[in-house]
Amino acid sequence: MPERGYVAIVTGSTSGIGLGIAEALAGEGMDIVLNGFGDPGGIERLRSRLATTYGVRAAYSAADMSKPDDVRGMVKTATKELGRVDVLVNNAGIQHTASVQDFPADRWDAIIAINLSAAFHATAAVLPQMIERNWGRIVNVASVHGLVASAQKAAYVAAKHGIIGLTKVVALETARSGITCNAICPGWVLTPLVQKQIDALAERERIDGSEAQARLLGEKQPSLDFATPAQIGALTAFLCSDDAAQIRGAALPVDGAWLAQ
Ligand code: NAD
Repeated sequence: MPERGYVAIVTGSTSGIGLGIAEALAGEGMDIVLNGFGDPGGIERLRSRLATTYGVRAAYSAADMSKPDDVRGMVKTATKELGRVDVLVNNAGIQHTASVQDFPADRWDAIIAINLSAAFHATAAVLPQMIERNWGRIVNVASVHGLVASAQKAAYVAAKHGIIGLTKVVALETARSGITCNAICPGWVLTPLVQKQIDALAERERIDGSEAQARLLGEKQPSLDFATPAQIGALTAFLCSDDAAQIRGAALPVDGAWLAQ
């Protein structure tokens, strides 16, 4: 595991899985750059809680992952302010559900920009300094939808399949270095992104929240239980360790056997 003083950027870390990852990496003694949207007071409380709880430096970038200049600027500013970036976790993501013929073009563009292109821009911006130090960890939060599809999720499935492809290319281009690049493929994790889908199901089927939750899990996730942001965080921390140095270009499911079917 890297010694204290390593710096990690976690995109989309003001909520859900990204926050679980930021907590886990701070727990390993890494300085953290938080990123994502939300109420400024809440984000500041989160930033200061991480710094105090784990005794690390914690910064916040308001960069919008749908804007390439913002993404590259986030890496530049983090490097200037914290001195280096050793770990990049591309996690920010959004969802929209509709059939292909009804899929709004602006939602397609936004999902591809945030869930896929942002990872390209951030990776391209951070690689030169990782190559210079011959050490780095890039972790892409993909999804089971990077490996299989579901109806109504054209943009999301396309972006997640794409990010697994990007992960493999970066892993090959860095294969003889101390830099690794891997993808994590969660199944259902109970976060605001999934809560919206549970609420929509409850409304559509006129059932209550707990029944909608059980149905959502029952359709796809044989364990009938959610994975947690803390579990995704723990796997990310492991991928950053020296024990994971030969895990390269992998797409690792955390999915309650979703993909075993
Ligand atoms: P979430 O909605 O709880 O969090 C998303 C985060 O991304 C938030 O911090 C939000 O502010 C940020 N964000 C959104 N748009 C942004 C933008 N333009 N610029 C910067 N930040 C932005 O969602 P989550 O469930 O924690 O999802 C995190 C990642 O995990 C996503 O890539 C998602 O596709 C993936 N994932 C989630 C699940 C799940 O079941 N929750 C399963 C598989 C994969």
